[in-house]
Amino acid sequence: MAGLSERIRALVRDDIAALAPYDPSFTPCAINLSANENTYGMPDAVREALASALAQAPTNRYPDPMAGDLRDQIAQWHGVPRGSVCVGNGGDELLFNFFLAFGGPGRRLLDCPPTFTVYDIYSRMVGTEVLRCWRDRETFGLDMGALLPMAARADMVIVTSPNNPTGNVIAPADAARICEACPGMVMIDEAYVEFADGDSSCEPLLQDHDNLVILHTYSKAFCLAGVRVGYVLAAPDVIDVLAAVRQPYSVDVLAQESARVVTAMRDEFLPTIARIRDERERLARGLAAIDGVRVWPSQGNFLLVRMSQAGIVRARLRDERSILVRDFSAAPGLQDCLRVTVGTPEENDELLDAIAELCKEAS
Ligand SMILES: *Cc1c(COP(=O)(O)O)cnc(C)c1O
Repeated sequence: MAGLSERIRALVRDDIAALAPYDPSFTPCAINLSANENTYGMPDAVREALASALAQAPTNRYPDPMAGDLRDQIAQWHGVPRGSVCVGNGGDELLFNFFLAFGGPGRRLLDCPPTFTVYDIYSRMVGTEVLRCWRDRETFGLDMGALLPMAARADMVIVTSPNNPTGNVIAPADAARICEACPGMVMIDEAYVEFADGDSSCEPLLQDHDNLVILHTYSKAFCLAGVRVGYVLAAPDVIDVLAAVRQPYSVDVLAQESARVVTAMRDEFLPTIARIRDERERLARGLAAIDGVRVWPSQGNFLLVRMSQAGIVRARLRDERSILVRDFSAAPGLQDCLRVTVGTPEENDELLDAIAELCKEAS
């Protein structure tokens, strides 16, 4: 941590003092394409249902600790028993609890960078050693030949699918091989799976693999990033462990109500999700047509792009165009890369126009 006082430096745990906090480097901008939110916003019908549900929510009472009604709804949606579902304060809380329960000193996480950096931060917080199986430098695909023997030595494996920020999905058959190779727990983080092709989810593997955990969130496709609700699906004995380490009231009354309304009305989101998938392909074509810009195929609601001077382009987008995108140009394996969230057609047009102009000026 930068700027730690000597007094606190002497008091805090060494491994915590060495932590760099998660920094989404947010700056208010007219167009925010930096955090992979659903920029189309809540469908009107859902917004109205939410308003009346929230107006009646019993905020004077503690929430149901395990969110029984919401769990039942999620269980029914996914065709699993209630005991296979645990909800959390965003996917992030469930990730942290996963580390708390299955990581810790003397244990090892197998991570597949470049990927979501929260895994690395949480493993440090709980003192878990990290093994890294780097993705292919060109395609960002997984190197299964290297990965399987490493999985055999790990207590936990996390694979993000679609992967943030590269957009790759893992074939369920490969996920099954990881579950078989790893003596510990395997999490497939499916935060963006709603944007992927229909047969991408590893969820069907839950039937035959009791060390598999599937992570989901309402933050991306379902427009609840500001409310904080996520859930995992796993074998009931895994859920029992996650339930034991969670903060009892982490999913508050308003969050439970919101997630229930959204779950009941989830089909209302399908047109927007389809739209985002179409816009993703249009934006990818538009970016690829700009001289000096490389785009990777993506199954998420975001695209990874590479261009020279990416850090400068990102700062100019922000300062001159009020467009915020995410800078990965200094991240290992992602030199000169930016991640852009797929926005509305108007937002995407502005982004394309701005990047085209900035790249032209730079060349
Ligand atoms: C956004 C995201 C999550 C979870 O986000 P929450 O808002 O905490 O639910 C988990 N994994 C990945 C890879 C993400 O990008």
